[in-house]
Amino acid sequence: MNTPRPTWDEMSHADRAGHIRRQLATITKALPYLVDVVGSGGRTSSSGYGSRLPLNLPAFSLRAEIDRDLVFWAGSIRREHPDHPTPLGGDLIGYIRRHAFWAAEWTYGRRLAYELEDLAQDARNLAWPRSDQMSLGACPNTIGADGEAVVCGAPIRVREDKPGEIRCPGCGLTDTIDGWLARIVPDASKPLTAEQLVPLLRRRLGVTVAPSTIRQWKRRGEIVAIGVDEQGRDLFDRHHAFLVVTRRDGRREA
Ligand SMILES: [Zn+2]
Repeated sequence: MNTPRPTWDEMSHADRAGHIRRQLATITKALPYLVDVVGSGGRTSSSGYGSRLPLNLPAFSLRAEIDRDLVFWAGSIRREHPDHPTPLGGDLIGYIRRHAFWAAEWTYGRRLAYELEDLAQDARNLAWPRSDQMSLGACPNTIGADGEAVVCGAPIRVREDKPGEIRCPGCGLTDTIDGWLARIVPDASKPLTAEQLVPLLRRRLGVTVAPSTIRQWKRRGEIVAIGVDEQGRDLFDRHHAFLVVTRRDGRREA
């Protein structure tokens, strides 16, 4: 029986810094595999998540998502360290790594670590597809009390050989895979945001797409938003999203 992974709050300052550095190292290793090779016809994979879509599409959008996030986090760290300029057009991963020890105790360190973990996991899955692990989405559990309540937001992952006991690495809440799906994805026929569609597409169709990929489908007119939520995010019909994935599948196999 494995000891459960310590949560962010249980980790020491040095462990947190090491954790941040490990996610950055994984992203660095996976990045070369996330670049679409023009004219290759798209890399495809015969097994694992993402196998039903040409790998170049999610890989390409994940690469863009990673770039956007690194720029955002390097910029945020830079604002706290006006005397540490970010390398011009340069090594943002190295810049964030050099501030990892400081970030381990930063107000936004937990959020940084979760985002890097999420990107590292997606990058790992796309670069080296594995069939025994998938990400379900962000933990929606509310933590903290007395007006300080925040959404946990830690990435929830399931191993196919242990679907019954999935523990949130952020708050420690434990549930089954279907329990987590019900927590993360609102039930019935309610329209869903791109972020909520991601775990549903993984669970129901076994495809891995990034939320940015779904937004790309919208820009290309492949899917239509049927409304917006209270935060102004586009809402989509889940069955329409299933259809888009199925059509893309057919095109590849045709
Ligand atoms: Zn949680």
